[in-house]
Amino acid sequence: MSIFNDNLERLKEIQVLGDIGDSEMKILLEPAQVNYLEIDIKGKKYPAWRIIYSRAIGPGKGGIRYHQDVSEDEVKSLAFWMALKNSLADIPYGGAKGGIKFNPKEVNQTELEEISRAYIDNFYPYLGQDKDIPAPDVYTNGQVMSWMLDEFEKKVGHHEPGMITGKPVELGGIALRGDATAQGGYLVTKELVNKFLPDKKDIKVIVQGFGNAGLFMTEKLDNDGYKIIAVSDSQGGIYNSNGLNIKDLIDFKKSGESVIKYKGGKVITNSQMLELDTDILVLAALENQITEDNAKNIKANYIVELANGPVTYEADKILAANNKIIVPDILANSGGVIVSYFEWAQNKTGQILEEEYLRNLLEKKMIGNWGKVYDQYVSYNGKITLRQSTYLIAVKRILAAEKYRGRI
Ligand code: GLU
Repeated sequence: MSIFNDNLERLKEIQVLGDIGDSEMKILLEPAQVNYLEIDIKGKKYPAWRIIYSRAIGPGKGGIRYHQDVSEDEVKSLAFWMALKNSLADIPYGGAKGGIKFNPKEVNQTELEEISRAYIDNFYPYLGQDKDIPAPDVYTNGQVMSWMLDEFEKKVGHHEPGMITGKPVELGGIALRGDATAQGGYLVTKELVNKFLPDKKDIKVIVQGFGNAGLFMTEKLDNDGYKIIAVSDSQGGIYNSNGLNIKDLIDFKKSGESVIKYKGGKVITNSQMLELDTDILVLAALENQITEDNAKNIKANYIVELANGPVTYEADKILAANNKIIVPDILANSGGVIVSYFEWAQNKTGQILEEEYLRNLLEKKMIGNWGKVYDQYVSYNGKITLRQSTYLIAVKRILAAEKYRGRI
């Protein structure tokens, strides 16, 4: 199954809806630049990519993923989604993504550092604050960003904190970045509830994925009184129809344990969890979680995509036919890159901006972007999905930028 082919199918629909000509659309059908090589560490080879999908609106921007299933098809898709996400978020970036194919749980800290530095040794000529700016993604974090910044600065011979975001505060990062993806997802989930479930009490939520995004999202929703009935990590899920004790569960998870070892619920598989009865299903793990095989069994009426690409193109159609509402990834998880933009802007200008100001700005942007997507969706009288609404806005803006540049 090719994730990228799914994206091309989605673009075909947008072309019709947006009345976009073939010659214009052509520029969006393939990435601007694909860099691939094998990182060699003492004879051990690690396939590695950095792909810039678009430079129309600004430099490349997007995270670097460490995972055993990383492939060119995946990185290309993630770079494509970054281009759309940045365009929709109205921040001055194109789109890019990187990845290294290996299991980060199977290497020690020294090896992790070697792999991270080697990635920069190989790709640094293509990176820089005005060329392409990486950030964390699945299984990369502030420590990895620090090694990468350090290696980059050694190579180029000057300080350039804006070449990477998601750094620790000591290296020019901003505290807000830590839970920004979840904060953005939480804000749009509240907007979703305001519009679609304004009077509902005791809203039930399931969260798939208990990494950075999923864990903080669960915490925020729990604090607001949502009833979290199940969560999962890569080992499996834990379910309690009366609601899980989230504070307790988070402490347990932070001690290094899988949620399936937690005693306050029943252990279930990830796929069983997706099909449970709930109001909202938050997908915060990986791609391809809802496919044509399980889409018809999904009971949640509302799905929030905190991960990138968790619902396939075929599944989208089945879910839409069953009147399920999906808040798509390029909107729901855009809080992370929006705060990356604040960090980058601060690094480039040397200005210090108050955390409260930035928190308010994030909120304003998320709610404003949701508003544009929702209003357009309503204006089509339910004939488009929220995803199509986001893609229409994002694609049109990229194509307008390309047009001004004289490339189409
Ligand atoms: N990896 C995150 C994403 O998929 C963040 C990217 C960034 O901050 O550049 O949106």
